[in-house]
Amino acid sequence: AEPGDQSNQAEKRLIVLSGPSGVGKSTVVAALRREYPDVWLSVSVTTRAPRPGEEDGVQYHFVSDEEFDELVAADQLLEWAQFAGNRYGTPRAPVQARLTAGLPVLLEIELQGARQIRETMPEALHVFLAPPSWDELVRRLTGRGTEAEEVIQRRLETAKVELAAEKEFDTTLVNTSVQDVCGELLALMAAPKV
Ligand code: 5GP
Repeated sequence: AEPGDQSNQAEKRLIVLSGPSGVGKSTVVAALRREYPDVWLSVSVTTRAPRPGEEDGVQYHFVSDEEFDELVAADQLLEWAQFAGNRYGTPRAPVQARLTAGLPVLLEIELQGARQIRETMPEALHVFLAPPSWDELVRRLTGRGTEAEEVIQRRLETAKVELAAEKEFDTTLVNTSVQDVCGELLALMAAPKV
């Protein structure tokens, strides 16, 4: 890119955080929200029902299937994917506004969505959040206690596929400490890929 190419410049501030279900992505994002309120996080839309403690407009915008269809039809999602029986997507407009203003954006999304972003926004920095071990991942997925056995099994299958995708990513962060991962993410947002 030419120096001063604003659009390209802006895309370099896009960080995609992905990794298997249960690895602790949402814990990391919750810690960022709590401890670094100045960090802007994209709030996804989902057709999944809220879990206890989740608030509409904070963790997600909770929408109906019909509302999700409308967002897709109107091309208002930057990417979207089906995951464990529900749909999830990133609203396009707020992300574009931030990037146009030259401000960093963090997307916490699953693998299929990360692949779409890799196609449509090639300058994004892709960060893989890895569990300390497979056993630890199984423990975390099983221990959440909010999901039915069948849902957990489906997520474990998906997690196997997602772990194998690590090589597609620009960098890996091992989630041994939420504090450390937060610090590393903040550093990446301050100094994105050249
Ligand atoms: P959960 O139901 O546990 O909150 O999220 C399930 C999965 O959906 C997680 O891997 C999460 O990263 C992913 N996810 C959340 N929001 C989005 C999104 O906007 N797009 C995509 N592709 N995945 C998302």
